[in-house]
Amino acid sequence: MSKAFASQADLADKTITFEQLSPHCWAYTTEGDPNSGVIIGDRYIMVSDATATPAMARDLIARIRTVSDKPIKYVLLTHYHAVRVLGASAFVDEGATEIIASQGTYDLIVERGEQDMRSEMERFPRLFRNAETVPGLTWPTLVIGGGNPVRGEVPGRLTLDLGGVQVEVWHPGPGHTRGDTIAWIGAEKVLFSGDLVEYEAGVYTGDAHLEEWPATLEALRALEAEAIVPGRGAAMKGRAQVNQALDYTKRWVQTLFTAAREAAAAGMDLKAAMAHTRKSMDPVFGHVFIYEHCLPFDVSRAYDEAKGIKNPRIWTAERDQEMWASLQD
Ligand SMILES: [Zn+2]
Repeated sequence: MSKAFASQADLADKTITFEQLSPHCWAYTTEGDPNSGVIIGDRYIMVSDATATPAMARDLIARIRTVSDKPIKYVLLTHYHAVRVLGASAFVDEGATEIIASQGTYDLIVERGEQDMRSEMERFPRLFRNAETVPGLTWPTLVIGGGNPVRGEVPGRLTLDLGGVQVEVWHPGPGHTRGDTIAWIGAEKVLFSGDLVEYEAGVYTGDAHLEEWPATLEALRALEAEAIVPGRGAAMKGRAQVNQALDYTKRWVQTLFTAAREAAAAGMDLKAAMAHTRKSMDPVFGHVFIYEHCLPFDVSRAYDEAKGIKNPRIWTAERDQEMWASLQD
């Protein structure tokens, strides 16, 4: 029997947790589904990652409204993936005026946002249950570039004052995508990492830069965070747990890429590379949520990168299905 494509057989609802991590920071976590973060200042609120659909975003807004009636002004897109960005219009309806992303993320939305939206809707039917509420692609209104503020350009690092709390936003380096952005609340040592960091859930690397990702994780470690909201998995509290999440992600990326390089060097085809990668990945990560969903995409990208393809190839709904079918026994 062939395995159901991606997460098409995963239809059981997740329990959502909304918890306070520090005086101004909250985690919205979902048992391995995409997480969001919330930073609540005296004047404004920022949300980090907008959920998959406006319907889902309204649940997040309802939870925020149990603890604050301040305006939700800023929505940060940590990267371009549909399950993170397509809920944004609900925040705009609620009054949000700035949708923030890096230049790299903006470029990826231009280049492949449409294909990614179609592909992800097929991969995750549960998350896109209310897909008809998505008005289309989410376009950033504030792009963090590498510009010079003296010349009136948007600088590479943005500091936002929410009232009593400052949030720094920047792109720490390539990893999960080439445009990943983080939110860092230095005074409270809380990090919202997006999918650059995961914990006890599949680390999706289908659009990743695997060789550079570990260095980006070390740049995050150097922040010495005391809490982190990963892209998937529980919020991690205390330095030891933060390092556990960083180590988990790094181990996934390095184990995967090592296997892919071995497969490419040995002249294996993609199917043989998949079997070879399973030998080192299954025993360590086989039990985690969406492992079987991620692995075919991950091996495809790792094998490409090992063969010298620098820019991840665009996934389309059609390429998804072809790849999946080609890796079945
Ligand atoms: Zn992602």
